[in-house]
Amino acid sequence: MKTLKIAIQKSGRLNEKSVELLKNCGLSFENYKSSLISSVSNFPLEILFLRDDDIPEYVQDGIADIGIVGENVIAETKVEVAYLQRLGFGKCKLKLAVPVNSTLSNIQDLNGKAVATSYPVILEKFFNDNNIKADIKMISGSVEIAPGLGLSDAIFDIVSTGGTLKSNGLKPFADVMSSEAILIGRNGEEENPLIQELIQRIQSVLRAKETKYVVLNVEKKNLETVISLLPGVKSPSVVSLAEEGWVAIHTVIPEQDFWEKINSLRAAGAQGIVVMPIEKIIL
Ligand code: ATP
Ligand code: MG
Repeated sequence: MKTLKIAIQKSGRLNEKSVELLKNCGLSFENYKSSLISSVSNFPLEILFLRDDDIPEYVQDGIADIGIVGENVIAETKVEVAYLQRLGFGKCKLKLAVPVNSTLSNIQDLNGKAVATSYPVILEKFFNDNNIKADIKMISGSVEIAPGLGLSDAIFDIVSTGGTLKSNGLKPFADVMSSEAILIGRNGEEENPLIQELIQRIQSVLRAKETKYVVLNVEKKNLETVISLLPGVKSPSVVSLAEEGWVAIHTVIPEQDFWEKINSLRAAGAQGIVVMPIEKIIL
């Protein structure tokens, strides 16, 4: 079977998480920082390390079969690719922001104003969808200084914590898009067995991340109450302990739910609670 090619970011915010995900899928490769290509030794896959801006086009044009890139980059390049799997990392928001003392109060007030951004395609679509006629000023970096320099009335940029906005005297004005890293492929090639195999592996890693393996001890008389407190568990394994009248419960539960329940589990008599990470969950 033909070797598959996956494009991932060479360096930057998505590189480390993309490499980690592929390694967690059991793929064995050298993460050469200096080269453009790395071969996987135990799967017919080659990894191309690229600038993130080039990934959607490389996938569309068939230079890579699949790729990992932020949704915002796909939206900005106007290419047509298939969304294969959301990956849960690289989360951010694209927002409009204005100076803290700005008198603009709703998005319609942007009519006739200048907005600086590095993401003109996404912004133009937003303005078209909302019937706003504004002047989009394309800047390739440090967009947040544009209002201070008198270049624009507002900016449109990626915001994660809002710290950069604040330190430049700006405040969020409107949310335009949420983004996360996505596995993309070419339209019509989703059924390629190698791609399917990789998606299965990725999903098993993502499922495992969200859940924990939990073991706890409980006196038999409290067993029913404790089980009723365990979120979403149909039938946990119950194992006898050497100590008469005590059992251990083994189960897999969503991590988030667990932390909410821990005090009530303790109050119901659960002891010796051990929470363990899970590597993969294969359905
Ligand atoms: P490249 O050199 O590959 O072109 P870049 O400088 O364009 O990299 P990065 O800053 O590494 O891009 O960001 C890559 C992606 O990470 C973004 O396109 C976005 O989807 C996501 N991301 C998540 N949080 C942030 C953030 N706070 N700032 C910028 N990007 C973020
Ligand atoms: Mg880039």
